Amino acid sequence: MTDKMLKFVELDLQTPTKRKADKRVDDFNEIYEQYLNEKAKEQSSRCSQCGVPFCQIHCPLHNNIPDWLKLAAEGRIEEASELAHSTNNMPEVCGRICPQDRLCEGNCVIEQSGHGTVTIGSIEKYITDTAWEKGWIKPLKIKKEIDQSIGIVGAGPAGLACAEELRKRGYKVTVYDRYDRSGGLLIYGIPNFKLEKFVVERRTNLLKKSGIVFKQKIEVGKNILLNDLRKKHDALLIATGVYKAREIELPGKNLKNIFPAMEFLTASNRKGLGDKVKDFDNGILNAENKNVIVIGGGDTAMDCVRTAIRQNAKSVKCLYRRDRENMPGSVREVYNAEEEGVEFIWLSRPNKFIGFEKVSSVLVEKMKLDKADSSGRKMPMPIPNSNFEIKADLVIKALGFDPEDLPKLFNDPNLSVSKWGTIKINLKTMETNIPGIFAAGDIVRGASLVVWAIRDGREAAEEIQKYLTQKRINKTKAA
Ligand SMILES: Cc1cc2nc3c(=O)[nH]c(=O)nc-3n(C[C@H](O)[C@H](O)[C@H](O)COP(=O)(O)OP(=O)(O)OC[C@H]3O[C@@H](n4cnc5c(N)ncnc54)[C@H](O)[C@@H]3O)c2cc1C
Ligand code: SF4
Repeated sequence: MTDKMLKFVELDLQTPTKRKADKRVDDFNEIYEQYLNEKAKEQSSRCSQCGVPFCQIHCPLHNNIPDWLKLAAEGRIEEASELAHSTNNMPEVCGRICPQDRLCEGNCVIEQSGHGTVTIGSIEKYITDTAWEKGWIKPLKIKKEIDQSIGIVGAGPAGLACAEELRKRGYKVTVYDRYDRSGGLLIYGIPNFKLEKFVVERRTNLLKKSGIVFKQKIEVGKNILLNDLRKKHDALLIATGVYKAREIELPGKNLKNIFPAMEFLTASNRKGLGDKVKDFDNGILNAENKNVIVIGGGDTAMDCVRTAIRQNAKSVKCLYRRDRENMPGSVREVYNAEEEGVEFIWLSRPNKFIGFEKVSSVLVEKMKLDKADSSGRKMPMPIPNSNFEIKADLVIKALGFDPEDLPKLFNDPNLSVSKWGTIKINLKTMETNIPGIFAAGDIVRGASLVVWAIRDGREAAEEIQKYLTQKRINKTKAA
């Protein structure tokens, strides 16, 4: 075993907080595979099989973690993969990008007793990646086709999970998306170094082979009205996510080279997928050789700083108005970013963008934390006369996302929305106020996580099935 192999294996299966990005497996041979197997076994067998599985309780999908860890420890990977798939439509995706420190691993009893968590996410990824490599993951075989169809608007994790679950039950499913590729934020939001795009494409190809129809570049509300789509199908699911970037009202905000996070990340992801991206190719959205400032403290901000580092930026600074302890982003991501050379300027906020036509610097004000607000978080307050200037060639705003203007987006004034602009549903049935139209994922919850979107998609499938079964019964009675 070479040092290089050992290093990779250590990084892949050790505590996630120590994991680094961009490690590739391609050049490792069979010895590596055996070693990885052993390492997975060793990690899996660290599970104490405690009576109350806190990891499972705190996983939004309630994955049967102790049982698949036991199977992995015994080398029964195919069975472990089947078990992992029984509750999750994309275990290899969750294994890679769930914030495990806040979910399963953060609640591992071994972690709580101070011995370092069982690396659940890495093992979930290992089990599923192995299953793909060995060809154990196959398109669905439908036992009995049902003559009812469901239209799903949005090919992100919520829409895809719902589509798969309904297809499994024999329904005809068509997925509509305004993008040219399926996957939603898995494709155009989350960077390749966290989630390789082939992993997402492999899943959507499998769904196509299972008989799900994908219609890309169809924007509901523009190319087809929601109401017309409703008439085409027996039921609809809206799973369109949240995409409106929160703005920052500051002097100089219209200067060139100030971008919302998604514009920067989408350009980078498209480039990685081999697309021609004008504003990347002409250098505007490429951080190479630039002084980059990212504003925000969430996981999207972390994705931006780490993408800028990979594009060989001259310097990358992150401005956040609270301190490290009060940051919304995952601790693991901050650690990774710092290791890669990002400088965090805690307790700071931009006050003005300076420049002639293009931004050339940002005037920054220092902050201090005051009393907690009603949510329990300490309020950041500006420190008078504390302004200082930082050089900037590219500024990226990562201040969070809100829903786009609904119901205007779908051109349907009848659809009810909440005071936050998200779609209102009956929480028991997941149905909107329009009969036969359901909703799931970020468009209901607000910006959240992939694992929650998958859970919502699965639950929506169950509710849609109930609705369609009742519809069939009513039709038979009436006939
Ligand atoms: C930069 C970034 C990084 C993230 N990193 C993580 C992470 O590491 N871990 C994690 O768990 N979560 C992460 N998230 C959050 C996660 O990606 C989302 O919670 C999840 O993708 C939501 O799934 P969804 O299916 O509800 O919506 P989306 O994934 O947003 O998919 C919605 C789909 O609907 C389509 N659509 C929208 N409007 C229309 C329309 N009118 N007509 C047709 N199609 C439409 C869109 O094109 C899109 O494909 C991240 C989010 C961002 C922005
Ligand atoms: S889906 Fe996420 S939270 Fe659940 S076991 Fe996997 S990594 Fe942990």
